[in-house]
Amino acid sequence: MALYLHNTASGERERVYAADGEALRFYCCGPTVYGPAHIGNFRTFLVQDLFRRVVEVGGLPVHHVRNLTDVDDKTIREAAAAGEDLPTFTARWRDRFHEDAAALNLLPPREEPSAVEHIPEQIGLIERLLASGHAYATADGSVYYRIASFPRYGQLSGIDREALRENASGRLEDADEYDKESVSDFVLWKAWKPEDGEVGWESPWGRGRPGWHTECSAMSVHYLGASFDVHGGGVDLCFPHHENEIAQSEGVSGERPFVRHWFHCEHLQVEGRKMSKSLGNFLTLADLRAEGFHPMEIRWALLSGHYRKTLNFTRENARAARKALQRLADLEHSLGRGVGTAGEAPLSPSWPEVVARGTEAFAGGGDQRAAWAALEDDLNAPEALGHFLREVGRAEREGRGWEPGEAAAWFSFAGSFLGVFGIDLRAWREDRAQARPAEAPAEVAALAAERWEAKGRRDFASADALRDRIREAGWQVLDRPDGYDLEPIGD
Ligand SMILES: [Zn+2]
Repeated sequence: MALYLHNTASGERERVYAADGEALRFYCCGPTVYGPAHIGNFRTFLVQDLFRRVVEVGGLPVHHVRNLTDVDDKTIREAAAAGEDLPTFTARWRDRFHEDAAALNLLPPREEPSAVEHIPEQIGLIERLLASGHAYATADGSVYYRIASFPRYGQLSGIDREALRENASGRLEDADEYDKESVSDFVLWKAWKPEDGEVGWESPWGRGRPGWHTECSAMSVHYLGASFDVHGGGVDLCFPHHENEIAQSEGVSGERPFVRHWFHCEHLQVEGRKMSKSLGNFLTLADLRAEGFHPMEIRWALLSGHYRKTLNFTRENARAARKALQRLADLEHSLGRGVGTAGEAPLSPSWPEVVARGTEAFAGGGDQRAAWAALEDDLNAPEALGHFLREVGRAEREGRGWEPGEAAAWFSFAGSFLGVFGIDLRAWREDRAQARPAEAPAEVAALAAERWEAKGRRDFASADALRDRIREAGWQVLDRPDGYDLEPIGD
């Protein structure tokens, strides 16, 4: 595999490899389970999923760990507001996250540790930081990290070292999330306060709870070792969260680097605007499903931009994804019967099958090879999709003249490509067929019946002409193996 990925730590594209030669050790900062994740969160998780799929198809297994933050300022505050105890409250939102992740076809991580389940590991980490002089306890029973003890602090994000020195003197930061203006010693263990209610654990420093930054260091080292291959997260986590992770992990182990390759995904906008509370545009998957969008359309739209650029999510993009999915369903129906091992659904091979085929599926030359090369070149998804759609156009133009072997090779490529992008065409097709369409006018229904008959006698020219007339009337035909549905073309 020759996958190159931008490394935030060096500012350069670097080759991705497993230091142990066996599996890529990959840690991702996961969701805070206090409400539904929004599509900006999911953009990052989808980019990480695409990365993992490219690595696995490239022939390298991935040991993927993604944590769940189930105790912090926000979860405690929101659980209290909901009148629930913390475990009940966070379990509900954890389940909701899993449902959304499954609907978006995210591969589950190999381990998904939660902060609450790893309190002893976090206490152990803090004890070692105290012993090595990187941390100090305060009179109230809290423990802070002394950033002056770690000269490399700030290197990853390139924060202003002067400002750091001036601001750092004597300032303590005990909020779990804070901004770039607030470079200071940060909290590792927070002494219990009345607003914590029932939440708290006994520790050598008294009752309290870990600070948010503590968990990722404790859990990544626990599952992946003191130094591992790739760490992913949204770009907003670079400072302070990832700086703090480095200071903690390298402070404990003395081993460096804690992480060889830092992988940050840029922000998401919605309809050209930043997502914010005041604009009320924190879109969730449920919001978009209520508008009639399928998770596969949303997945496609969220992966259509380069991960290192801000992506503008628009409903128009999601509708464009729907059109592309329809073209693929049409191709599968017209050319894909009995092709390959997936039978009636050659564009929906299982993930193990896609991994087993590996990069061989992309060896077909021209746009096929180029689609894979784009992915290996810093995960250039828009370019890869461009090559893929050119292949789709070629199949539409030339596919009917193909020999069975040519068709099989094309479907192997296209099925693998969709697998790498995690696009489950079968789920899309079946869900769309279930959502019963509105009753079509009689003349449209008659055209559709005529088209079905034309297809039956393999008169594809007439069938295509009829499909165009149906489209002009504002409807589209959705083919199923045993028939078809009629749907109004979306707004
Ligand atoms: Zn983290």
